[in-house]
Amino acid sequence: MQNAPLIDPFARPITYLRLSVTDRCDFRCTYCMSEAMQFLPRAELLTLEELDRLSSAFISLGVRKLRITGGEPLVRKGILTLFQSLSRHLASGALDDLTLTTNGSQLARYADDLAACGVRRINVSLDTLVRDKFAAITRWGKLAPVLDGIAAAKAAGIRVKINTVALKGFNEDELFSLTDWCAKEGHDLTFIEVMPMGEDMGDALRLGQYWPLTDLRARLASRYGMTDVPLRTGGPARYVRLDATGQHIGFITPLTHNFCESCNRVRATCTGQLYMCLGQNDMADLRAPLRASADDAPLIAAIRAAIARKPKGHDFDYSRASPAGTGAVKGQMPRHMSHTGG
Ligand code: SAM
Ligand code: SF4
Repeated sequence: MQNAPLIDPFARPITYLRLSVTDRCDFRCTYCMSEAMQFLPRAELLTLEELDRLSSAFISLGVRKLRITGGEPLVRKGILTLFQSLSRHLASGALDDLTLTTNGSQLARYADDLAACGVRRINVSLDTLVRDKFAAITRWGKLAPVLDGIAAAKAAGIRVKINTVALKGFNEDELFSLTDWCAKEGHDLTFIEVMPMGEDMGDALRLGQYWPLTDLRARLASRYGMTDVPLRTGGPARYVRLDATGQHIGFITPLTHNFCESCNRVRATCTGQLYMCLGQNDMADLRAPLRASADDAPLIAAIRAAIARKPKGHDFDYSRASPAGTGAVKGQMPRHMSHTGG
């Protein structure tokens, strides 16, 4: 049954693919990349045609939501042609949602074209509204073009969700100003706990940056009043409504709340490696079957074999941090988020 849907060993249907189209980025966010990142040789990357073929194979197997990510997806040369060709799956009804996660730096240039491809909502990462702090956390980024990009997306009719990594001692003091700005602009807002990725790069330790969302949430509740809402968007976020503003706020809490039981997703890297879990090392190479034959049968067989070993969940846990001041965390992953596509 070539087209039977993908169901993993824990009876979870796999309906969501996150696809990284590049490991490169025009920023060097401190929690994501080291300043001197080594990037992959271009020949290792899947071509735009291969990325389309890979996505289309997943869509033929029941994937309904496709998120393009990276690295920074909008720095991949020719990226618009990928969106343009993938939009056929929206038109056919095979795909519900074609979206991307971006740092926003190139968004002003692409917003109208993305909207024309059927992109209805996007995630933009933004950790601060203060220019100098933005420059510090992204190392290479500038705030103004990102704000212009967000405005352009809104003007193009794309709904914007701001993703903010909660960073102790960095954006604690902007919790209310970020929330109020999103309320004023009509953007959704989700906070993310910093995850122990890529610790090997010897950068500021993720452990020292960890600001538990339980604390962040309590601060929001005391300022605005808060009601839990059952809203689920097919992702790991849990949502509340702020009583004072009516806005929905999401929390992605891999460390204080394990969301694996409802996991519906897999991640493909820009080299065609399929990670069945963000927090585990097991992966399947899809580039070889993709390149071995113009027929999709070997590719589909490789996808099925990979889904058949999707693990139950991740093991991140800051409370089990190792002793001796190593900063290492139980379940920590040596990969950078930009590698697996966040
Ligand atoms: N460049 C795009 C962007 O920044 O939105 C897409 C890729 S980025 C790797 C995807 C998301 O991962 C961003 O929202 C970023 O903030 C988040 N991220 C990166 N490293 C992280 C970490 N160590 N812990 C939690 N989130 C992280
Ligand atoms: Fe680039 Fe996104 Fe990583 Fe920042 S979080 S360095 S913008 S890939």
